[in-house]
Amino acid sequence: MQKQIAIIGGGIVGATVAYYLSADPTLSVTMYDDGIGQATKNAAGIISPWLSKRRNQRWYALAKAGAALYPEIVADTQMGMSVYQQSGTIVTRADADDLETLYQLAIERRQAAPQMGTIEKLSAAEVQARLPLLTAPQAGVFVSGGARVDGAKFTEHLLQYAEKRNLVRHKGKVKLGEQGQLLTANGQMNYDTLVLAVGAWLKPLLLPMKLVADVRPQKGQLIELQLPQTWPDDVPVLMPEGERDFIPFTRSKLVVGATHENDQGYDLQVSSLVEDDLFASGRQLDANLTRDQITTVKVGTRAYTRDFAPFFGPLPDNPHVLVASGLGSSGLTTGPIIGKLLADYVRTGRHDWSAYQLPVETYLRSAD
Ligand SMILES: Cc1cc2nc3c(=O)[nH]c(=O)nc-3n(C[C@H](O)[C@H](O)[C@H](O)COP(=O)(O)OP(=O)(O)OC[C@H]3O[C@@H](n4cnc5c(N)ncnc54)[C@H](O)[C@@H]3O)c2cc1C
Repeated sequence: MQKQIAIIGGGIVGATVAYYLSADPTLSVTMYDDGIGQATKNAAGIISPWLSKRRNQRWYALAKAGAALYPEIVADTQMGMSVYQQSGTIVTRADADDLETLYQLAIERRQAAPQMGTIEKLSAAEVQARLPLLTAPQAGVFVSGGARVDGAKFTEHLLQYAEKRNLVRHKGKVKLGEQGQLLTANGQMNYDTLVLAVGAWLKPLLLPMKLVADVRPQKGQLIELQLPQTWPDDVPVLMPEGERDFIPFTRSKLVVGATHENDQGYDLQVSSLVEDDLFASGRQLDANLTRDQITTVKVGTRAYTRDFAPFFGPLPDNPHVLVASGLGSSGLTTGPIIGKLLADYVRTGRHDWSAYQLPVETYLRSAD
């Protein structure tokens, strides 16, 4: 008899779990996804973790493995360049010493991360030559293995791939009962394994089981602009100092973002003040941008833990319920590898994730 698996949440974690489980014909997989506020489809899309200043070695190991996994998934499922493109990333710095430190870090990290590809230190003029949109370029470090991904297209591609095999999708919100039973619009459903890939919503979902997840929501907004000019497909992504990145996608789409708003809960309202601020950040890089070029303001909810690290795996007292959350601002990078590791666990019942995270119980406590 087929083993019945339910995945709750169709963001990057849920979609990747579904994709990897679709290779196993002994499994029947059902997904329930609400979709509202999903971080994945509202994300900026930068995959370039290697020059991060974060000191958490487990996070770095996970992010490095996630970035390395993308080209494999992209090739295996034949994704196009409008979904994922290794266009390279440029990290700029105003200070020459800071830039040199960054360059040395890149050279050092490449030894254990060959997927970083070519590393070059570029003058401001060379940065502008690679990214002609810029009117105020700074010197930077170019990493050819850096990439951009359209989170919405990536997950939809994987989900459609899985649907051709063993996945059935349902739209809508579900709840859990006290014992972890799945409660859907059509009543209680029984599954052998539940995968809770619900991002920032893990805390409310687990509460009926009297478990408190260490997860808080963070609002993120970005703007998308449609520019009159076109550019080559391999135009790199720009990561200046600060939080505002500059991501040219194919077909003249430019993304500027994103915000990190900690005091807004699950709010999904577009804020015109924030839109103004994002636009001003874009104009600092390209003085020719105009307001009427803004086509969309996107809003999503990220999930953060106390130590900013993601966690994933079976609940300590209920190994048939798996959780994943806390992916924060780098979840497009870590999401696919987390999805793969969870799918491996569903199929084998074994795991050793100590290189990637602290034990799951670190992020869970009893509500009593
Ligand atoms: C503005 C912004 C920019 C970002 N930029 C980047 C970037 O450049 N690079 C990067 O690596 N990361 C980036 N991120 C982070 C990344 O998007 C997230 O960390 C990642 O997408 C989280 O994936 P997830 O699958 O855990 O959660 P989500 O994508 O949020 O998916 C969770 C899904 O579960 C559903 N759900 C929740 N509760 C229920 C329920 N009870 N029943 C049914 N469905 C439910 C939700 O509706 C949602 O669809 C960005 C995020 C934002 C918001």
